[in-house]
Amino acid sequence: MNDNCLFCKIIQGQIPATKLYEDADILAFADISPQAPTHFLVIPKRHLSGPSAASEADEALLGKIMRVGAEIAKNQGVEQFRLVINNGAEAGQTVFHLHLHVLGGRPMTWPPG
Ligand code: 5GP
Ligand code: ZN
Repeated sequence: MNDNCLFCKIIQGQIPATKLYEDADILAFADISPQAPTHFLVIPKRHLSGPSAASEADEALLGKIMRVGAEIAKNQGVEQFRLVINNGAEAGQTVFHLHLHVLGGRPMTWPPG
């Protein structure tokens, strides 16, 4: 728990969120400003600022975040989707608690902005 972290506050229930999945390790919830018809976030419950802060011990956690994100999308009937993790402000990260974006339900373009 990082007292200044928005997503830690969501984990603690101090800020409401539309939760899609939760277990001892991770939480998935709807993005407050969806950029696609399906847009949710999957986060570790333990505060980790981003992939750069992850260690070898976090490999299973990172894999789980991706696998569960794909499973939630499938359960929503979304077979085609994009997974994004922004690492650092220049990459577009605004909340410094690692989160996987799962975006789908519309055609996507490449390269990203
Ligand atoms: P980033 O830009 O750091 O990769 O993504 C942060 C995401 O968190 C953004 O897509 C933003 O809409 C979302 N977000 C920011 N504040 C809140 C909030 O209070 N609740 C929820 N559910 N999502 C948030
Ligand atoms: Zn946090």
